[in-house]
Amino acid sequence: MSQSISVGRFAPSPTGPLHFGSLIAALSSFIHAKYHKGKWLVRIEDIDPPREVPGSSDRILRQLEQHGLIWDDQVLYQSSRLDSYNQILQSLRDHKRVYYCQCNRQRLVSLGGVYDGNCRNLALGPQDCALRLAVTKALSSAEPETVSIGFTDNIMGNFSQQLTHGIGDFVLRRRDGLIAYQLAVVIDDQYQGITQVVRGADLLDSTPKQILLQQCLGYQTPEYTHIPLAVNSEGQKLSKQTFAKTLTEGHERENLWIALKWLQQDPPQELRQATVEEIINWGIEHWDLTSIPTSMQAVPAFSTNI
Ligand SMILES: [Zn+2]
Repeated sequence: MSQSISVGRFAPSPTGPLHFGSLIAALSSFIHAKYHKGKWLVRIEDIDPPREVPGSSDRILRQLEQHGLIWDDQVLYQSSRLDSYNQILQSLRDHKRVYYCQCNRQRLVSLGGVYDGNCRNLALGPQDCALRLAVTKALSSAEPETVSIGFTDNIMGNFSQQLTHGIGDFVLRRRDGLIAYQLAVVIDDQYQGITQVVRGADLLDSTPKQILLQQCLGYQTPEYTHIPLAVNSEGQKLSKQTFAKTLTEGHERENLWIALKWLQQDPPQELRQATVEEIINWGIEHWDLTSIPTSMQAVPAFSTNI
């Protein structure tokens, strides 16, 4: 794939239908890709069967179509990519960049999110163990613990985390044998030739991990744009856990207009009567990243169907 082609993506997990928060991510990534005259791909992150809700993938795809968010190429299902993930894990094992960890959930919770390397030198076997990346061995030259991995986000600005105290050895394959999100997303961003990642700011924290993995695997690092989160009137992120409403069928034009308004793109009132295609095209023509706020915002109160 030519380097000059811009490629964006939307990568939902099939854990339920789209809600307003996920529409913001889908719409932003679509408009950003089309503003750059690029392609927009859809990837279904279906590698965590216990969390999946049957029928969600098809429902999400139908919702995207109804909102005029038509993807290029074929939808990529991560469940079809397990051989690739395992091959790459094997090569990381061959290069001694990963190790087995037997720490239980209780111990991990007590660490507060950054792993302390407890199992790094225990030479444990695969049985009932997670596989972690040894971050200080991830790069070809051994990195001092004080090194930071950073990037400049198109909205959030400079963001970095220190290798051992901010990132820490993180999981690539879970104790239950499932492939971890961080590994799959990095491999597939490379596989699909993604040059621009536009997604919710809840993943800002994951980005240094992903950049480190990209460097470890010799991949390109895409450009990152993290959109602030949409929250409900109590300030909670819109998600299934906070009972975010499913987008109502038949309200697609309204949903898109409100999403553009939420993104502070200043859509005119009369655009509310336009077709889905006209609203999207207006969004592409007027796309302005500098107007997007950097902090969380509540969904407007007037949007009764969201
Ligand atoms: Zn451990």
